[in-house]
Amino acid sequence: MKHKGDYFRNSTGANIGSHVMFLDMNCYFASCEQQRHPELRGKPLGVITYDSPNAAVIAASKEAKKFGIKSGMRLGECKMLCPQLITTTTHPGWYRQIHVDVMNILRSYCDDVIPKSIDEAVVNFNSYRLVYNDLTALAKQIKADITKKYDYLTCSIGIAPNSFLAKVGTGLQKVDGLVVITPENVDAYLAKMKLTDLPGIASANERRLLMIGIRNPLEMRHASPALLRKAFGGVVGNYWHSRLNFAEVDMYSKAENRTMSATRTLSRQQSQNRQVLESMLISLCTRLEQRMVKAEIFCREMFFAIRYRDGTTWDTAVKLAEPLQDAMEMISYIKKQISDFERARNIETVFTPQTTNLTVGISSFMNGKVMQYSLFDNRLKKDMVRRVMYQIKDRFEQKNIVRKGCELFVPNVMKDAIGFGSVKDMLMKEGEVKNKFMLEEDEIPGQPKKVVMKRKEIPVPSPDDDVYREYEGPDFADEWQSNGSMAQ
Ligand SMILES: [Mg+2]
Repeated sequence: MKHKGDYFRNSTGANIGSHVMFLDMNCYFASCEQQRHPELRGKPLGVITYDSPNAAVIAASKEAKKFGIKSGMRLGECKMLCPQLITTTTHPGWYRQIHVDVMNILRSYCDDVIPKSIDEAVVNFNSYRLVYNDLTALAKQIKADITKKYDYLTCSIGIAPNSFLAKVGTGLQKVDGLVVITPENVDAYLAKMKLTDLPGIASANERRLLMIGIRNPLEMRHASPALLRKAFGGVVGNYWHSRLNFAEVDMYSKAENRTMSATRTLSRQQSQNRQVLESMLISLCTRLEQRMVKAEIFCREMFFAIRYRDGTTWDTAVKLAEPLQDAMEMISYIKKQISDFERARNIETVFTPQTTNLTVGISSFMNGKVMQYSLFDNRLKKDMVRRVMYQIKDRFEQKNIVRKGCELFVPNVMKDAIGFGSVKDMLMKEGEVKNKFMLEEDEIPGQPKKVVMKRKEIPVPSPDDDVYREYEGPDFADEWQSNGSMAQ
């Protein structure tokens, strides 16, 4: 089951035998706090990002969970459930330190460790089948190693034929769990689960499955790929069939191997004006920023190319010390390369009137969920502001309503700078628009802006819906959708 441009390192062949381990730290931020402050142990504790009655609890200790407190709840609501709740603000450096130590423990047993978020990792023991004949014993040893270093921390470990089922295994025993899923016992586990217990199946996907008559994970596993394709509207259905039937589709992020690019062809008139050319550069970088924000990825390499009317080109590539997502940072790197070149060659500008084509490309992506920990201190806020800005853009159908100051100087060059592969970004299936902020409407000069407010839809959470699911780990379905939308 290979598709053009699909997996590079994942394999979808049959892979029976349980050699993949998924590790999920329990109540991570709260346990880290209790580790450092023994006086907080055994008490209901909520971790908040800032100290205010309106703050949301981003992590709850196991004691707090017993009162029904969940990640994402407002502090006021938590206090009603548990008046004695203690709160503490986050200490990201400390969580990152523990993450690094836990990853190092895993790496001491296997060189194929893939961190999935700050408190989760997949360990691929497929090449170690002759080294370890008992992964259950090894899992116990890993737990002991973690406890030796941090006596209050526990984790849940799942072992299965693929990383998806291994993750399912970590969800079956929430505290200090150890579950081995095999082809022999998988049906028994799935029979006891609801569809929404599967990572990546939230209410929308559940509805799609119910509509075609699949009522539980067991029926889903035994459904034909064709039926699942119907439910998920295409190849995503095949992925689900593979996941539940032991093939590997989630271990490595395809993103690492991809390139995204955005390009613009210029008219003769446009290329006469250097300011227009620079605005084009801004618009191209902004496009790529949008797509990275949407896909929750960061890039570590970028390139910029100019094509001239005589067919010659000028290009430059940058390897970045720190992964980035921000358009202004991208532009400053490109401008630096350009000005260095201009100075060295003693030429006035590479943006000559002969310019016919500009391309910005990015590659060597990192998953934003893995980035969480390195962004925490200095960049997390900036990253959040960027996300919120796009959310606002998405809420107003007139996309030009919110712009960063940098986008303003020749605003209308923005509107049709759509990069390669962006059609896939925009259209999910049969005309359903996915990446709405890529569809900007032309503004008619001199006419007042028409602002259309979309009605905000507030989904009704079910009692067992974890509203802050993302903190619990990656959502595989989302990951697939965003990966699937990338350009080659
Ligand atoms: Mg966890």
